Amino acid sequence: MSPESIRQDVKNFTEDSLVQWLGKHDIAPYRAGQIFRSIYHRGISSFSDMTDLSKDLRGFLSERLVITRLETERVQTSRDGSMKYLFRLRDRQYVESVLIPEPGHWTLCISTQVGCAMGCKFCLTGRGGLVRNLEPAEIVNQICAVKEDLQGPDPLTNIVLMGMGEPLANYENVVRAIRTIAGNNGLQFSSRRVTLSTAGLVPRMDDLGRDIRVNLAVSLNAADDATRSRLMPINRTYPIEMVLSACRRFPLPPRRTIMFEYVLIAGVNDAPSDAERLARLLRPLRAKINLIPFNPFEGTDFKTPEEDAILAFQEVLQNRHYTVIIRHSKGSDICAACGQLSPRS
Ligand code: SAH
Ligand code: SF4
Repeated sequence: MSPESIRQDVKNFTEDSLVQWLGKHDIAPYRAGQIFRSIYHRGISSFSDMTDLSKDLRGFLSERLVITRLETERVQTSRDGSMKYLFRLRDRQYVESVLIPEPGHWTLCISTQVGCAMGCKFCLTGRGGLVRNLEPAEIVNQICAVKEDLQGPDPLTNIVLMGMGEPLANYENVVRAIRTIAGNNGLQFSSRRVTLSTAGLVPRMDDLGRDIRVNLAVSLNAADDATRSRLMPINRTYPIEMVLSACRRFPLPPRRTIMFEYVLIAGVNDAPSDAERLARLLRPLRAKINLIPFNPFEGTDFKTPEEDAILAFQEVLQNRHYTVIIRHSKGSDICAACGQLSPRS
Protein backbone atom coordinates (compact mmCIF):
# COMPACT_ATOMS: atom_id res chain seq x y z
CA MET A 1 0.00 0.00 0.00
CA SER A 2 1.22 3.51 -0.76
CA PRO A 3 2.17 5.65 2.21
CA GLU A 4 -0.60 7.84 3.57
CA SER A 5 1.15 11.00 2.44
CA ILE A 6 0.63 10.21 -1.22
CA ARG A 7 -2.90 8.91 -0.90
CA GLN A 8 -5.42 11.70 -1.40
CA ASP A 9 -7.81 12.63 1.36
CA VAL A 10 -11.29 11.74 0.09
CA LYS A 11 -12.77 14.43 2.35
CA ASN A 12 -10.92 17.04 0.30
CA PHE A 13 -13.15 16.14 -2.64
CA THR A 14 -16.60 17.50 -3.35
CA GLU A 15 -18.99 14.88 -4.65
CA ASP A 16 -18.60 16.37 -8.15
CA SER A 17 -14.83 16.32 -8.05
CA LEU A 18 -14.93 12.72 -6.80
CA VAL A 19 -17.12 11.83 -9.79
CA GLN A 20 -14.42 13.29 -12.03
CA TRP A 21 -11.62 11.50 -10.25
CA LEU A 22 -13.46 8.19 -10.45
CA GLY A 23 -14.17 8.83 -14.14
CA LYS A 24 -10.47 9.09 -14.86
CA HIS A 25 -10.17 5.57 -13.48
CA ASP A 26 -13.19 4.30 -15.44
CA ILE A 27 -15.39 4.01 -12.36
CA ALA A 28 -19.10 4.86 -12.66
CA PRO A 29 -20.22 8.31 -11.43
CA TYR A 30 -22.88 6.94 -9.03
CA ARG A 31 -20.11 5.40 -6.93
CA ALA A 32 -19.23 8.89 -5.67
CA GLY A 33 -22.66 9.23 -4.03
CA GLN A 34 -22.31 5.76 -2.51
CA ILE A 35 -18.89 6.58 -1.09
CA PHE A 36 -20.10 9.95 0.25
CA ARG A 37 -23.12 8.39 1.96
CA SER A 38 -20.94 5.72 3.58
CA ILE A 39 -18.63 8.37 4.95
CA TYR A 40 -21.00 11.20 5.89
CA HIS A 41 -24.28 9.39 6.65
CA ARG A 42 -22.99 6.16 8.13
CA GLY A 43 -19.69 7.38 9.56
CA ILE A 44 -17.67 4.60 7.91
CA SER A 45 -13.98 5.29 8.26
CA SER A 46 -12.42 2.63 6.05
CA PHE A 47 -13.03 1.65 2.43
CA SER A 48 -12.79 -2.00 3.43
CA ASP A 49 -16.05 -1.54 5.38
CA MET A 50 -17.96 -0.27 2.34
CA THR A 51 -19.65 -3.56 1.65
CA ASP A 52 -21.83 -2.09 -1.09
CA LEU A 53 -18.68 -1.82 -3.22
CA SER A 54 -17.01 -4.79 -4.88
CA LYS A 55 -13.94 -6.17 -3.18
CA ASP A 56 -11.75 -5.07 -6.08
CA LEU A 57 -13.08 -1.53 -5.94
CA ARG A 58 -12.56 -1.37 -2.18
CA GLY A 59 -8.95 -2.43 -2.65
CA PHE A 60 -8.43 0.04 -5.49
CA LEU A 61 -9.80 2.94 -3.42
CA SER A 62 -7.85 1.99 -0.28
CA GLU A 63 -4.62 2.17 -2.24
CA ARG A 64 -5.29 5.63 -3.55
CA LEU A 65 -7.53 7.42 -1.08
CA VAL A 66 -7.60 7.85 2.66
CA ILE A 67 -10.50 8.79 5.00
CA THR A 68 -9.14 11.13 7.66
CA ARG A 69 -10.48 12.27 11.01
CA LEU A 70 -9.28 14.90 13.46
CA GLU A 71 -7.62 14.07 16.76
CA THR A 72 -9.48 15.70 19.63
CA GLU A 73 -6.86 17.04 21.99
CA ARG A 74 -9.22 18.51 24.57
CA VAL A 75 -12.87 19.38 25.18
CA GLN A 76 -13.75 22.07 27.71
CA THR A 77 -17.27 22.75 28.92
CA SER A 78 -18.28 26.25 29.90
CA ARG A 79 -20.62 27.22 32.73
CA ASP A 80 -23.15 28.27 30.09
CA GLY A 81 -23.13 24.81 28.46
CA SER A 82 -21.05 25.65 25.40
CA MET A 83 -18.13 23.36 24.64
CA LYS A 84 -14.80 24.19 23.10
CA TYR A 85 -13.09 21.45 21.08
CA LEU A 86 -9.38 21.67 20.47
CA PHE A 87 -8.27 19.58 17.49
CA ARG A 88 -4.74 18.57 16.59
CA LEU A 89 -3.90 18.65 12.90
CA ARG A 90 -1.43 16.43 11.01
CA ASP A 91 1.33 19.01 11.24
CA ARG A 92 0.78 19.56 14.99
CA GLN A 93 -1.08 22.79 14.48
CA TYR A 94 -4.28 23.29 16.43
CA VAL A 95 -7.75 24.57 15.59
CA GLU A 96 -10.81 25.12 17.72
CA SER A 97 -14.54 24.68 17.24
CA VAL A 98 -17.20 25.87 19.66
CA LEU A 99 -20.47 24.00 20.18
CA ILE A 100 -23.21 26.35 21.37
CA PRO A 101 -26.46 25.18 23.01
CA GLU A 102 -29.66 26.77 21.73
CA PRO A 103 -33.27 25.91 22.53
CA GLY A 104 -33.87 22.49 20.95
CA HIS A 105 -30.70 22.33 18.91
CA TRP A 106 -26.96 22.98 18.76
CA THR A 107 -24.97 25.43 16.67
CA LEU A 108 -21.34 24.68 15.83
CA CYS A 109 -18.87 27.47 15.16
CA ILE A 110 -16.01 26.16 13.01
CA SER A 111 -12.58 27.47 11.99
CA THR A 112 -11.34 27.95 8.44
CA GLN A 113 -7.68 28.88 8.99
CA VAL A 114 -4.96 28.39 11.58
CA GLY A 115 -4.60 32.01 12.68
CA CYS A 116 -5.67 34.88 10.45
CA ALA A 117 -3.86 37.42 8.29
CA MET A 118 -6.41 40.23 8.69
CA GLY A 119 -4.90 41.62 11.87
CA CYS A 120 -8.04 43.12 13.43
CA LYS A 121 -6.93 44.93 16.56
CA PHE A 122 -9.67 43.54 18.84
CA CYS A 123 -9.18 39.89 17.87
CA LEU A 124 -6.84 37.43 19.52
CA THR A 125 -6.84 35.12 16.48
CA GLY A 126 -5.58 38.02 14.37
CA ARG A 127 -2.69 38.80 16.69
CA GLY A 128 -0.54 35.85 15.71
CA GLY A 129 -0.99 36.28 11.96
CA LEU A 130 -1.82 33.51 9.54
CA VAL A 131 -0.21 30.12 10.04
CA ARG A 132 -1.97 28.32 7.21
CA ASN A 133 -5.25 27.64 5.46
CA LEU A 134 -7.32 24.64 6.47
CA GLU A 135 -8.02 22.03 3.83
CA PRO A 136 -11.64 21.20 3.00
CA ALA A 137 -11.22 17.92 4.91
CA GLU A 138 -10.03 19.75 8.02
CA ILE A 139 -13.05 22.07 7.89
CA VAL A 140 -15.55 19.25 7.35
CA ASN A 141 -13.85 17.02 9.93
CA GLN A 142 -14.53 19.51 12.73
CA ILE A 143 -18.23 18.81 12.17
CA CYS A 144 -17.75 15.04 11.83
CA ALA A 145 -15.82 14.91 15.11
CA VAL A 146 -18.36 16.95 17.07
CA LYS A 147 -21.30 14.98 15.66
CA GLU A 148 -19.71 11.75 16.85
CA ASP A 149 -19.29 13.22 20.31
CA LEU A 150 -22.73 14.80 20.61
CA GLN A 151 -24.78 13.67 23.60
CA GLY A 152 -28.47 14.05 24.38
CA PRO A 153 -31.53 14.45 22.19
CA ASP A 154 -30.82 17.82 20.59
CA PRO A 155 -29.49 17.67 17.03
CA LEU A 156 -26.70 19.74 15.52
CA THR A 157 -28.57 21.80 12.93
CA ASN A 158 -26.64 25.04 12.45
CA ILE A 159 -23.11 25.71 11.27
CA VAL A 160 -21.42 29.09 11.50
CA LEU A 161 -18.06 29.74 9.86
CA MET A 162 -17.05 32.24 12.52
CA GLY A 163 -14.21 30.52 14.34
CA MET A 164 -10.53 31.10 13.69
CA GLY A 165 -9.67 32.64 10.36
CA GLU A 166 -11.19 34.65 7.54
CA PRO A 167 -13.24 32.19 5.46
CA LEU A 168 -13.10 34.24 2.27
CA ALA A 169 -9.29 34.38 2.45
CA ASN A 170 -9.37 30.57 2.05
CA TYR A 171 -12.02 30.74 -0.62
CA GLU A 172 -11.64 27.56 -2.69
CA ASN A 173 -11.29 25.26 0.29
CA VAL A 174 -14.17 26.88 2.16
CA VAL A 175 -16.52 26.63 -0.83
CA ARG A 176 -15.58 22.97 -1.29
CA ALA A 177 -16.23 22.31 2.37
CA ILE A 178 -19.63 24.04 2.23
CA ARG A 179 -20.61 21.90 -0.74
CA THR A 180 -20.02 18.80 1.39
CA ILE A 181 -21.60 20.35 4.49
CA ALA A 182 -24.82 21.17 2.62
CA GLY A 183 -24.77 18.30 0.12
CA ASN A 184 -27.51 15.66 0.12
CA ASN A 185 -24.95 12.88 0.10
CA GLY A 186 -22.73 14.91 2.39
CA LEU A 187 -23.55 16.22 5.85
CA GLN A 188 -27.02 17.39 4.77
CA PHE A 189 -27.16 20.73 6.58
CA SER A 190 -29.81 23.02 5.15
CA SER A 191 -28.07 25.90 3.39
CA ARG A 192 -30.43 28.20 5.34
CA ARG A 193 -28.61 27.04 8.46
CA VAL A 194 -25.06 27.60 7.29
CA THR A 195 -23.67 31.12 7.87
CA LEU A 196 -20.35 32.48 6.71
CA SER A 197 -18.91 35.51 8.47
CA THR A 198 -16.44 37.78 6.69
CA ALA A 199 -14.42 40.86 7.54
CA GLY A 200 -15.43 42.14 4.09
CA LEU A 201 -13.26 40.77 1.28
CA VAL A 202 -15.32 42.43 -1.41
CA PRO A 203 -14.29 40.50 -4.57
CA ARG A 204 -14.76 37.19 -2.78
CA MET A 205 -18.17 38.27 -1.46
CA ASP A 206 -19.25 38.65 -5.09
CA ASP A 207 -17.79 35.23 -5.95
CA LEU A 208 -19.57 33.66 -3.01
CA GLY A 209 -22.96 35.02 -4.06
CA ARG A 210 -22.40 33.54 -7.50
CA ASP A 211 -20.93 30.19 -6.48
CA ILE A 212 -22.95 28.89 -3.57
CA ARG A 213 -26.00 29.48 -1.39
CA VAL A 214 -25.11 30.36 2.19
CA ASN A 215 -26.13 33.04 4.73
CA LEU A 216 -23.84 36.01 4.86
CA ALA A 217 -22.63 37.72 8.02
CA VAL A 218 -20.42 40.78 7.75
CA SER A 219 -18.21 42.09 10.54
CA LEU A 220 -18.71 45.82 10.26
CA ASN A 221 -17.57 46.85 13.75
CA ALA A 222 -17.56 50.57 13.03
CA ALA A 223 -19.78 53.07 11.25
CA ASP A 224 -17.10 55.37 9.81
CA ASP A 225 -14.01 54.61 7.77
CA ALA A 226 -11.50 56.23 10.11
CA THR A 227 -12.57 54.07 13.06
CA ARG A 228 -12.99 50.94 10.97
CA SER A 229 -9.55 51.32 9.38
CA ARG A 230 -8.05 51.68 12.80
CA LEU A 231 -9.74 48.49 14.04
CA MET A 232 -9.63 46.47 10.82
CA PRO A 233 -6.72 47.09 8.42
CA ILE A 234 -8.72 45.44 5.60
CA ASN A 235 -10.90 48.57 5.57
CA ARG A 236 -8.06 50.46 3.87
CA THR A 237 -8.47 48.18 0.88
CA TYR A 238 -12.24 47.70 1.03
CA PRO A 239 -13.82 50.63 2.86
CA ILE A 240 -17.34 50.60 4.25
CA GLU A 241 -19.11 51.81 1.12
CA MET A 242 -17.49 49.06 -0.99
CA VAL A 243 -18.47 46.42 1.55
CA LEU A 244 -22.05 47.66 1.67
CA SER A 245 -22.29 47.79 -2.14
CA ALA A 246 -21.17 44.15 -2.21
CA CYS A 247 -23.91 43.42 0.31
CA ARG A 248 -26.47 45.11 -1.91
CA ARG A 249 -25.31 42.94 -4.83
CA PHE A 250 -25.41 39.75 -2.78
CA PRO A 251 -28.28 37.55 -4.00
CA LEU A 252 -30.63 37.29 -1.02
CA PRO A 253 -33.49 34.81 -1.16
CA PRO A 254 -36.92 36.21 -0.18
CA ARG A 255 -37.28 37.04 3.50
CA ARG A 256 -33.59 36.44 4.21
CA THR A 257 -31.36 39.08 5.75
CA ILE A 258 -27.65 39.84 6.01
CA MET A 259 -26.31 39.75 9.54
CA PHE A 260 -24.04 42.64 10.49
CA GLU A 261 -21.75 42.00 13.42
CA TYR A 262 -20.59 44.89 15.52
CA VAL A 263 -18.09 44.37 18.32
CA LEU A 264 -18.81 47.07 20.91
CA ILE A 265 -15.65 48.57 22.41
CA ALA A 266 -15.89 51.17 25.17
CA GLY A 267 -15.07 54.70 23.99
CA VAL A 268 -14.11 53.49 20.49
CA ASN A 269 -17.32 52.71 18.61
CA ASP A 270 -20.09 52.56 21.21
CA ALA A 271 -21.52 56.11 21.24
CA PRO A 272 -25.20 56.68 20.38
CA SER A 273 -23.98 58.76 17.41
CA ASP A 274 -22.21 55.63 16.10
CA ALA A 275 -25.49 53.72 16.37
CA GLU A 276 -27.28 56.46 14.44
CA ARG A 277 -24.69 56.42 11.71
CA LEU A 278 -24.88 52.62 11.55
CA ALA A 279 -28.66 52.80 11.19
CA ARG A 280 -28.28 55.20 8.26
CA LEU A 281 -25.64 53.04 6.58
CA LEU A 282 -27.74 49.89 6.70
CA ARG A 283 -30.97 51.58 5.62
CA PRO A 284 -30.85 50.31 1.98
CA LEU A 285 -30.29 46.71 3.08
CA ARG A 286 -32.30 43.87 4.57
CA ALA A 287 -30.15 43.77 7.69
CA LYS A 288 -30.09 42.27 11.14
CA ILE A 289 -27.58 43.49 13.67
CA ASN A 290 -25.60 41.42 16.10
CA LEU A 291 -23.95 43.45 18.84
CA ILE A 292 -21.03 41.61 20.44
CA PRO A 293 -19.69 43.24 23.62
CA PHE A 294 -15.90 43.11 23.31
CA ASN A 295 -14.38 39.99 24.87
CA PRO A 296 -11.13 40.95 26.54
CA PHE A 297 -7.90 38.96 26.41
CA GLU A 298 -4.46 39.38 27.86
CA GLY A 299 -2.46 42.27 26.47
CA THR A 300 -5.36 44.31 25.09
CA ASP A 301 -6.14 47.91 26.07
CA PHE A 302 -9.70 47.72 24.77
CA LYS A 303 -12.52 47.59 27.30
CA THR A 304 -16.02 46.16 27.24
CA PRO A 305 -18.66 48.90 27.49
CA GLU A 306 -20.89 49.13 30.55
CA GLU A 307 -24.23 47.38 30.21
CA ASP A 308 -26.05 50.75 30.06
CA ALA A 309 -24.04 51.83 27.03
CA ILE A 310 -24.72 48.52 25.28
CA LEU A 311 -28.46 48.81 25.89
CA ALA A 312 -28.51 52.46 24.79
CA PHE A 313 -26.74 51.50 21.55
CA GLN A 314 -29.27 48.76 20.97
CA GLU A 315 -32.17 51.10 21.64
CA VAL A 316 -31.10 53.62 19.01
CA LEU A 317 -31.13 50.83 16.43
CA GLN A 318 -34.38 49.31 17.62
CA ASN A 319 -36.05 52.71 17.44
CA ARG A 320 -35.13 52.67 13.79
CA HIS A 321 -36.82 49.27 13.43
CA TYR A 322 -33.80 47.01 13.21
CA THR A 323 -33.75 43.55 14.72
CA VAL A 324 -30.82 43.74 17.11
CA ILE A 325 -29.43 40.85 19.09
CA ILE A 326 -26.90 41.41 21.83
CA ARG A 327 -24.65 38.40 21.68
CA HIS A 328 -23.18 38.01 25.09
CA SER A 329 -20.63 35.53 23.83
CA LYS A 330 -20.82 32.02 25.10
CA GLY A 331 -17.90 30.33 26.69
CA SER A 332 -15.85 33.32 27.81
CA ASP A 333 -14.75 31.41 30.94
CA ILE A 334 -12.99 28.85 28.72
CA CYS A 335 -11.76 31.39 26.14
CA ALA A 336 -14.23 30.08 23.60
CA ALA A 337 -15.94 33.40 23.00
CA CYS A 338 -15.71 35.42 19.79
CA GLY A 339 -12.20 36.66 19.24
CA GLN A 340 -10.70 34.54 22.00
CA LEU A 341 -9.68 31.59 19.85
CA SER A 342 -5.98 31.23 19.35
CA PRO A 343 -3.77 28.66 17.66
CA ARG A 344 -1.60 28.57 20.75
CA SER A 345 -4.30 27.74 23.29
N1 SAH B 1 -12.95 36.41 10.14
C1 SAH B 1 -14.36 36.40 10.16
C2 SAH B 1 -14.94 35.30 11.03
C3 SAH B 1 -14.24 35.02 12.32
S1 SAH B 1 -14.27 36.31 13.53
C4 SAH B 1 -14.90 37.75 10.57
O1 SAH B 1 -14.12 38.60 11.00
O2 SAH B 1 -16.09 37.95 10.43
C5 SAH B 1 -15.92 36.12 14.16
C6 SAH B 1 -16.50 37.34 14.84
O3 SAH B 1 -15.86 37.57 16.09
C7 SAH B 1 -16.35 38.63 14.05
O4 SAH B 1 -17.61 39.26 13.91
C8 SAH B 1 -15.43 39.48 14.91
O5 SAH B 1 -15.74 40.84 14.74
C9 SAH B 1 -15.74 38.95 16.29
N2 SAH B 1 -14.67 39.19 17.26
C10 SAH B 1 -13.35 39.11 17.07
N3 SAH B 1 -12.68 39.41 18.20
C11 SAH B 1 -13.60 39.69 19.14
C12 SAH B 1 -13.54 40.06 20.52
N4 SAH B 1 -12.38 40.18 21.14
N5 SAH B 1 -14.69 40.25 21.18
C13 SAH B 1 -15.88 40.11 20.56
N6 SAH B 1 -16.01 39.74 19.26
C14 SAH B 1 -14.88 39.55 18.55
FE1 SF4 C 1 -9.43 37.52 11.32
FE2 SF4 C 1 -12.08 37.78 11.82
FE3 SF4 C 1 -10.22 38.01 13.79
FE4 SF4 C 1 -10.40 39.92 11.95
S1 SF4 C 1 -12.01 39.33 13.42
S2 SF4 C 1 -8.50 38.99 12.71
S3 SF4 C 1 -10.89 38.74 10.13
S4 SF4 C 1 -10.69 36.18 12.59
